[in-house]
Amino acid sequence: MKIIGHQKIIDYLVKSVHRKKLAQSYLFCGPAQVGKKMVAKYFAATILCEQEENPCLQCDSCLRVAQDEHPDIYYVQPEENKEIIGINQIRSMKNAAIFSPFSGSAKIVIIEKADNLSKAAANSLLKILEDPPDRVFIILLAQGLANLPSTIYSRCQVLRLKPPHSSEIISFLQEEFNFDQEKAEKITSLSWGLPGRAINLVKNKELGLKKQEELISKFLFFLTERDNLENKIKLSDLILKSESQESLFVLLQVVRDFYLIKAGLNSATALKEEQKKKLAQMYSFLELRLFAQEIMRVRNQLTAPLNKKLLIENLFFNNFT
Ligand SMILES: [Zn+2]
Repeated sequence: MKIIGHQKIIDYLVKSVHRKKLAQSYLFCGPAQVGKKMVAKYFAATILCEQEENPCLQCDSCLRVAQDEHPDIYYVQPEENKEIIGINQIRSMKNAAIFSPFSGSAKIVIIEKADNLSKAAANSLLKILEDPPDRVFIILLAQGLANLPSTIYSRCQVLRLKPPHSSEIISFLQEEFNFDQEKAEKITSLSWGLPGRAINLVKNKELGLKKQEELISKFLFFLTERDNLENKIKLSDLILKSESQESLFVLLQVVRDFYLIKAGLNSATALKEEQKKKLAQMYSFLELRLFAQEIMRVRNQLTAPLNKKLLIENLFFNNFT
């Protein structure tokens, strides 16, 4: 269970286990793919480990945690093709939590995408947070506090996870996948500093490194020559044929980078220096913001049963021109 970054938070959590000073509910906040679930799993492994020097990462318990197979860890996340975590899922979790642990030490509930709890689900969760059963630890993972009721997060110990330094991602990629410096750097810059994205770029065949580079180059071409019809079609097509939401996330990051460059801040992008400056000059802050909003809108609508092709084509044909 190798974790990229977050060393301070991990040290803190492991120490809390060793000193037996645990809170019963935690909320890990941070952007998607920053490593919240990995930290939660490492924490769970520490609590459940059978060895004195925990987490040993070698005992049966630790190995099961790493493989998402530990019987005392209960995961909650939106069901397939659904955005929301419903009340029934929280009810089932609560039913499971009252039984004593299989391994004898503790039960751990990890609620992924807790930002997406329905109102009823959040209310139901609140009851177990107010009075959690003995040796049940609840870890909520969320992007921020904005979509969570204050009654929920005020009952949790909140830990904020920030993207690790890019050098940590680079060395991870070199050690784990034997990449040379150049390839590791390229992937890191295309991951926008998010470890989960970096790993996806390596493992994901659908929107892997090559496709992502192609996507960015077509998008940049679109930004420079907005009247080029052929490129617009190719760009829409590329997004439709790969993971559309993920592709739009990439475009959003590119727009965000221009925004940062314009504001004189550093950006994590893989774009060439001259290209960055030229494009940043072409657009006003307002234009960039509107375009970002438009991409987000289309990205959110992709989950609804609408005409996907039309939605994506409209983004390049009708808007922002
Ligand atoms: Zn262990």
